[in-house]
Amino acid sequence: MNEAKGTALITGASSGIGALYADRLARQGYDLILVARSADKLDQVANAIREKTGRKVETLPADLGNAADLRTIEDRLASDAGITMLVNNAGIGSTALTLEAAVDAMSAMVSLNVNALMRLSYAAVPAFAARGRGTIVNIASIVAVTPELLNGVYGGTKAFVLAFSQNLRHELAGTGVQIQVVLPGATATDFWDIAGTPVDHLPGEIVMRADDLVDAALVGLAREEFVTIPSLHDESRWDAFEATRQAMAGELSTSTPAARYRAAEKVAS
Ligand code: NAP
Repeated sequence: MNEAKGTALITGASSGIGALYADRLARQGYDLILVARSADKLDQVANAIREKTGRKVETLPADLGNAADLRTIEDRLASDAGITMLVNNAGIGSTALTLEAAVDAMSAMVSLNVNALMRLSYAAVPAFAARGRGTIVNIASIVAVTPELLNGVYGGTKAFVLAFSQNLRHELAGTGVQIQVVLPGATATDFWDIAGTPVDHLPGEIVMRADDLVDAALVGLAREEFVTIPSLHDESRWDAFEATRQAMAGELSTSTPAARYRAAEKVAS
């Protein structure tokens, strides 16, 4: 075990953003546990990283939409004291409209993007908190705050990732557990083919290279950012959005309905 950095467990590490996290974290000195369904692709990623970095890389093929497979990864997170980082990256999207989308595909998306991310976090958090050390990186999306852009269930799953991360950060303050949520914009990976719209159908100026995205997200992590949005150039936009949310928070629960909701006769009486 690498005592300095420990081991990072990365889901969805067989391609795209997850494979790049694996490469970059190994270069930073982490040993790795790589999770995805495709054992052959995981082996390719693992072999390339071992060759380049000499780090210890283990592959754990698992379908995180399958309860039994998911449980094996949860058990590993809960029991392996060498794990210091969880990158909840595995996810699928859709560009289908509600009137066209198959509801079973929507359920599969919720199962992976929401249920698996939640259960893996629930396995890691007590272990990290007990050790006073650990990092959870949750990969959301800009659709968490712009759900009109793609499929609504996809946007909803990523809004869950953002909200859940906000709560984790709040609850775990002072425990030594670092939480980061990353909101990528369009990124050039296989995601788009699987989601139903090839990435070359998008205007080039809105698509980021996956290595640029991951490198930027890791700069955000090193800066101890909570929310990292690599494509948002004007950081004050998010700060203003967040300040408005925080300012409103104390006004959202009151004993009386707002004046605009009073029935006409009550207003008159
Ligand atoms: P990707 O290249 O398609 O990678 C998705 C990864 O998830 C693959 O390693 C895939 O591996 C794994 N995966 C899919 N279903 C799985 C399952 N049931 N169990 C375990 N692993 C599973 O796409 P990506 O762009 O890197 O996506 C990574 C994350 O970034 C996702 O959460 C996505 O929502 C988010 N994101 C992407 C973009 C974008 O524009 N690309 C933008 C915002 C957010 P196997 O097929 O081998 O299982």
